[in-house]
Amino acid sequence: MDFKQYVTVVEDFPKEGIRFKDITTLMEDGEAYKKAIDQMADFAKNKEIDVVVGPEARGFVVGCPIAYSLGLGFVPVRKAGKLPRPVLEVDYGLEYGKDSLNIHKDSIKPGQRVLITDDLLATGGTIEATIRMVEELGGVVVGIAFMIELSYLDGRDRLDDYEVFTLMTY
Ligand code: IMP
Repeated sequence: MDFKQYVTVVEDFPKEGIRFKDITTLMEDGEAYKKAIDQMADFAKNKEIDVVVGPEARGFVVGCPIAYSLGLGFVPVRKAGKLPRPVLEVDYGLEYGKDSLNIHKDSIKPGQRVLITDDLLATGGTIEATIRMVEELGGVVVGIAFMIELSYLDGRDRLDDYEVFTLMTY
């Protein structure tokens, strides 16, 4: 399936010069969404994964259905102030801005094998922060799956030590 035909490229969003890849049009199509998730879950299938981790909000859109289809749990990574119990916090740089991310401290047990998911790899800042949190909690990142990779931003250079899967490359 040509997944790109379901993604809408929006010029100058959220600011001038950025060509935003909007996956909501892919999500709106039941067949395309299911096939995209199925292919990502296939990548993860034989990796003996214990748990799936994804950053808000589109990391949930991708990670939750993958976790469900593999019969695994899902651990949310969220912006500061959203998670109710004790958290580990890390700062990170975005394609457009800076922020910090949180994960519940007790959400990953040492030695657990983790699949990290997000909708899109841009500079890699978000996923690098997510990796750092998982590893600090003792998790082992055995795979990282994205719907989209913006190869011109070289985010993959930060992920040399990991097995990375992407459905679409721009
Ligand atoms: P990074 O941290 O620079 O790799 O940016 C990736 C994060 O920003 C992901 O969580 C994406 O959801 C979001 N993001 C950056 N650019 C886009 C885009 O063009 N479309 C959708 N999300 C984007």
